[in-house]
Amino acid sequence: MNAVFIVDSMLGNVSKWLRILGYETLFFKTPSDETLLKLSQESNRILLTSDKELFKKAKSMNINTIFINPNLSLKEKLIKVFKESNLQPQLNSTRCTVCGSELNKIEIKDLEELLFTSDFWVCNKCGKLYWRGSHWKNIMKMYNELCEKLST
Ligand SMILES: [Zn+2]
Repeated sequence: MNAVFIVDSMLGNVSKWLRILGYETLFFKTPSDETLLKLSQESNRILLTSDKELFKKAKSMNINTIFINPNLSLKEKLIKVFKESNLQPQLNSTRCTVCGSELNKIEIKDLEELLFTSDFWVCNKCGKLYWRGSHWKNIMKMYNELCEKLST
């Protein structure tokens, strides 16, 4: 289960959600097509793009690529990605939504008992702290809807 993604600049939201749903995803704000193609080829990543020309170019270079119609909703885009890549959304390997690195679970017993009844994770690269707060409800909702759609 080492498939990882690289997305073009039109798919920032998709990259954030792929990280939440457990997949390492490279995202650049202003990458050139050449950079995207080179990186996908060198690191064997699946290139997700809403750019038809880039998609065609990637195909012709035998790069694993998925065209994402920009008119789809976020949920439809994610379903397309998971279906075509044959992967399942996962909640036990969420990545940092800022930098895409792995999260380490940490113990803050006292604070936890005082403030939250939740687990904490910290990004091992940028240090961002995560816990399953109110945003977790949205994540669970998306996760359940995706799993439902993908199982049919
Ligand atoms: Zn981070």
